[in-house]
Amino acid sequence: MSLLIENGTVLTGGKAAAVLPNHSVLIEDGCITQVAPKNCFKRCAARRLDASRKVIAPGFINAHTHFYSTFARGLTKTKPAGNFVDVLKNLWWRLDSALTTEDCYYSALIALLDSIRHGTTTLIDHHASPQAVRGSLSAIEKAVKQTGLRACLCYELSDRDGARISKEGLEENVSFIRHCQRSSQRQSAANDHQLSTIDYQPSTSALFGLHAAFTLKDATLEKAAALGQELGTGFHIHVAETESDQQYSQQKHHLRVVERLKQFGILGPRSIAAHCVHVNRRELDILSQTQTAVVHNPQSNLNNAVGIADIVAMSKKNVLVGLGTDAMTTNMLEELRVALWAQHLRAKNPSVGFAEVVSALFFNNPRIAERSFNLSLGEVRVGCPGDVVIIDYDPPTPLEASNSFGHMVFGMSQAAVDTTIVGGRVLMENKRLTLDLDEPRINARARELAAELWKRL
Ligand SMILES: [Zn+2]
Repeated sequence: MSLLIENGTVLTGGKAAAVLPNHSVLIEDGCITQVAPKNCFKRCAARRLDASRKVIAPGFINAHTHFYSTFARGLTKTKPAGNFVDVLKNLWWRLDSALTTEDCYYSALIALLDSIRHGTTTLIDHHASPQAVRGSLSAIEKAVKQTGLRACLCYELSDRDGARISKEGLEENVSFIRHCQRSSQRQSAANDHQLSTIDYQPSTSALFGLHAAFTLKDATLEKAAALGQELGTGFHIHVAETESDQQYSQQKHHLRVVERLKQFGILGPRSIAAHCVHVNRRELDILSQTQTAVVHNPQSNLNNAVGIADIVAMSKKNVLVGLGTDAMTTNMLEELRVALWAQHLRAKNPSVGFAEVVSALFFNNPRIAERSFNLSLGEVRVGCPGDVVIIDYDPPTPLEASNSFGHMVFGMSQAAVDTTIVGGRVLMENKRLTLDLDEPRINARARELAAELWKRL
């Protein structure tokens, strides 16, 4: 299986972050095998795509999202919220408690199809469905496999719904992590047989999901930490999204949130702490020392009025800061822009935050995803998986390495993604999905399910 994307302007991403005009990209067996001017290609490819007057870039990565929130779109049956905990109680905890397994599947499918349209090729999801815990991650995995994207899944363990559901949350994480580990062992065995060491094809992976420190008892954190350690996995948890998370932790446990999580062994180089809006310098030192990734979600934070995370201070402390949408959108360039405006506003200085925001999406998100997928993501480079997008962007001003991120923020973010490719498989071409999925039927069934779900609230 080979695919040649011809004659576009290649943005390589990665440390080189080079801009290569009139270049073509060859993808063979899921892997990028050549990036060169068109006349350098001797071999014939099975399939060709014309990218002239377009940009070829690495697929985008969303480092924190919730597929199930698709079914909150247009929901009006919620009481007004005066603060973030009200947002959880009035909206999210009512919605997720009413989800069925079929809801989990369809809400994920819609979010994934939207992601393809916006060139997002790898996603890290955080799932909750307390009345349908068992099998929920397998239902989401089915949607991921059908769309051809890469996704890292977890179930958000919490004590908010009592001991039985908390136990089910633990078990769902353990069972899905084991399932992913077995799949990757089978894949390695198959690869060894073919004398190839890496599988470039789309895949699912797992983290151990935890809701947030303020809904987790010490005993539950202890059990999760022991199981996570036994399984050799990292954790994915919301951290200090709001000041009340810190107040609760200090009153109840006499520790800051990050200190408490460190004490239980939840932090580490495979773990993700989403948000970290309200962390102090000592907590930043802990996140840095433990190499825990922080994922910044500015649109969600602004929408919930919880504050703006200081990602400039985090970057100065060498904390690996990525960018997620927290399900506000599937469009990473929209999130990138909002992240930049928010840092300007936070510092009351329009020159602050550009490097940090750009690094979060283009350099750090690939590092965070690589921890789960064991693949070199975020680059159009020989040896990397063929996760590539073609953007309908013929630059009206000079486009070169020194200003390519400026073009991303102010130009490409407003252009359409034309083609989305994952592991060499074309998922969308000329702005049309090429998957064998009946989208009108999927949307119709999703509308039926959402209407039934809203009645149950
Ligand atoms: Zn979240």
